[in-house]
Amino acid sequence: MATRKVVLKEDPILRKQSRTVTKFDERLWELLDDMAETMYADEGVGLAAVQVASLKRAIVVAIQDGRGITELINAEITHREGTQYEIEGCLSIPGEYYETIRPEKITVEYDDRYGEHHVEDAEGFRAVCYCHEIDHTNGILFLDRLNPEPHDREELEERARKRRAEKQPTVK
Ligand SMILES: [Zn+2]
Repeated sequence: MATRKVVLKEDPILRKQSRTVTKFDERLWELLDDMAETMYADEGVGLAAVQVASLKRAIVVAIQDGRGITELINAEITHREGTQYEIEGCLSIPGEYYETIRPEKITVEYDDRYGEHHVEDAEGFRAVCYCHEIDHTNGILFLDRLNPEPHDREELEERARKRRAEKQPTVK
């Protein structure tokens, strides 16, 4: 395993569509392992392959809810429900945190690293993370999801502080 260089906001690759993964082989596993290491090294809670300059539809997510790391290959959101607001950041956009609008609940379909298909319902912070990372695979950044009428910043920042105190940093 090795860390890889995270591409930054200005890099045009972040606006590209990632491609469907068809080979669930050692090259993919190495990429996923490197992505996890890179995410942990930068204290992120999620990372998409495009952020390490690979246009594969591959995502890693690790939030502090006891589940450990989740790998999502070829992830698609098939259902969205409700609305939630969250202050998001991104490893490719360091130092910028803004309030976004996201669905409260989603259904996501994805393959795991062995090509096995999964259907999962996610809500709350996990749903935000999935949406953020799946957007990356479609060339969309959280800056495209900003709430035009942000809430009281203090209230949301208090929640973000709490999350950090629980060692659960804001979405990357
Ligand atoms: Zn991001």
